[in-house]
Amino acid sequence: MEQSHTASEKLAKFSLKKALQLVEIAVKPFPKAALFELAERGWNTTFQQVLACMISVRTLDEVTIPVAERLLTRAPTPDRLLELTVEEVTELIQESTFAGTKAHNMLEIARVAWTRYGGVLPCEEAVLLALPGIGPKCANLVLGIVGGQPKIGVDIHVHRVMNRWGYVQTTTPEKTLRVLEEKIPRATWIEVNRLLMPFGKHICTGRRPHCPTCPVLPICPQIGV
Ligand code: SF4
Repeated sequence: MEQSHTASEKLAKFSLKKALQLVEIAVKPFPKAALFELAERGWNTTFQQVLACMISVRTLDEVTIPVAERLLTRAPTPDRLLELTVEEVTELIQESTFAGTKAHNMLEIARVAWTRYGGVLPCEEAVLLALPGIGPKCANLVLGIVGGQPKIGVDIHVHRVMNRWGYVQTTTPEKTLRVLEEKIPRATWIEVNRLLMPFGKHICTGRRPHCPTCPVLPICPQIGV
């Protein structure tokens, strides 16, 4: 009873700004989410981030980063990728899930970039969403990282953490995205991705979250934990 009273008090007083400040400190020791890390390493064109995001789908960050670097070193631009066969691309990204399908889509994206856009893929929402294998999550991440256009890329980590904080009460990442877009100031959208992806992966984990050592604990209502 005492615990639920505390939880409801925390829920009533919950401050997203304060929570994100605490998360910023908490995630310092951990690697950044894959696309942010790759952008910092210089892989920051629209084409490069699109390929990296495809590799990251259902693939761990620890795998995504080296696999993306291997592919992008060999094929940093659409014309360079088009020099490779689908088998060669599959081989380069083989540790990523669904490598064959992803390789096929990557070559199609390179073809589109080359034939329609002269080899430079525009960082525009409609262009990205029309590419094979690119859904709203990847498009939003790329628009945010490359274009500096505030977009929330809600993955399972962002979805889980926001629900545990009671900031949203939603059943899917897609629904969480819609609620967050209404509730969170635009200027904070990219920060939410940057911080909550590693936080959800390493601290507020799906199973057995590390609540006892989590710096957000004093203000976290721990909904459903
Ligand atoms: S206290 Fe627990 S539930 Fe709350 S943010 Fe930290 S790890 Fe997640």
